[in-house]
Amino acid sequence: MSMNRRGFVRGVGLAAAGVTAAPGSAAAGAQDSKTPGMKVTGVKTILLDTLQPQRKWLFIQLLTDKGLVGLGERPSPAGVTNLKPHIELLNDLCERFVIGRSPFDIEKIWQSMYTSSHDLRHPSLYAIPAFAAIEMACWDLVGKAMNQPVYKLLGGQYNDMLRAYAYLNTQGVWEKPELAGERAVELVKAGNTVCKLDPFTPITGPPKDYPLKTIRHVAKIFRAIRDAVGDELEIGIGTHGQFSTAGAIRVAGILEEFDPYFFEEPVSPENVDEMARVAAHTNIPIATGERLVTKFEFAQVLQKQAAQIIQLDVGQCGGILESKKIAGMAEAHYAMIAPHMYCGPVAVAAALQLDTCSPNFLIQEYNANDLHREILVEPIKFENGFIIPPAGPGLGIELNERVVKRQLSG
Ligand SMILES: [Mg+2]
Repeated sequence: MSMNRRGFVRGVGLAAAGVTAAPGSAAAGAQDSKTPGMKVTGVKTILLDTLQPQRKWLFIQLLTDKGLVGLGERPSPAGVTNLKPHIELLNDLCERFVIGRSPFDIEKIWQSMYTSSHDLRHPSLYAIPAFAAIEMACWDLVGKAMNQPVYKLLGGQYNDMLRAYAYLNTQGVWEKPELAGERAVELVKAGNTVCKLDPFTPITGPPKDYPLKTIRHVAKIFRAIRDAVGDELEIGIGTHGQFSTAGAIRVAGILEEFDPYFFEEPVSPENVDEMARVAAHTNIPIATGERLVTKFEFAQVLQKQAAQIIQLDVGQCGGILESKKIAGMAEAHYAMIAPHMYCGPVAVAAALQLDTCSPNFLIQEYNANDLHREILVEPIKFENGFIIPPAGPGLGIELNERVVKRQLSG
């Protein structure tokens, strides 16, 4: 466990300027809240063990002089259990750019984190998720101060219910493709309309071409699903950029007859032109975004028509406001958002705020386990394939302190 408390105040002059801001300014907006002049006074980090040995959850709490606490999450990198460098980065960013400031100054805080240091001024999967954790904690404070869910402060509630999807369990499916059909029937009975499966292994390593025999075998799995449930269940191809460009186009050509919902990361996302080449050679919508950060990387994907389904991760790409900007760019390109989820419940709650206020929301990835439910005083409601947006202020969630204590790491 790490619970570093940094209580000293920095940037008092800036903060004082906020208190006396002219009417109509962002800082003056804070005067309308129930906590006028609120300042961040400290940060705590909370590191938790989860149900998976190779995964931790890292939460932050921003403390304020008004007693409100803002909750955020730095989605933990897959397979990394030593999160000390990430905790140090969070503390350092808060000390340099957040403590002493109003949590209402979200844009100023974000811009100061991104532009003040040469090494941070670049899309980075290392630093930007830390920005996101801080940013969503600020939004949690703003929402709590205004007694409104964040989505009401970002355009209001556009979606009453949020369609969600999870992985189809593929254990044993390779040996027995008809099992995929049986599992698809179960998913449909539970109210789901979309699933995803990741049939091509391994998912790491340099780009590969898979043998025709392998691709045809995967086609048998897709055929088993279509035979079992017809068009009642959409099927996403959940790959992780493991193909060469030509290999991805070949896979798309063979699986196209099953009308997949999307083809996720057909090639690795760093070469946007190559993903655009795949998109130009298939009718399957291309999805990408879980490894992309900031508006700058998503702008390239949209400009080059590399993907139509934007799988941004609110906890990684830069936070709620950065996600709203990306969603807006997608909207202008007639592209949809399908936010990624591989994180704990706080970053999920942040994603739901974006989903609820976004007209081009398509679907939310949702892989929640028992701990996701148990650790919240009021679990996120998931019914018949849909999530009900939390109505509470801020991110709309509250941690169950008893479960937090039980799960504290180390
Ligand atoms: Mg994915």
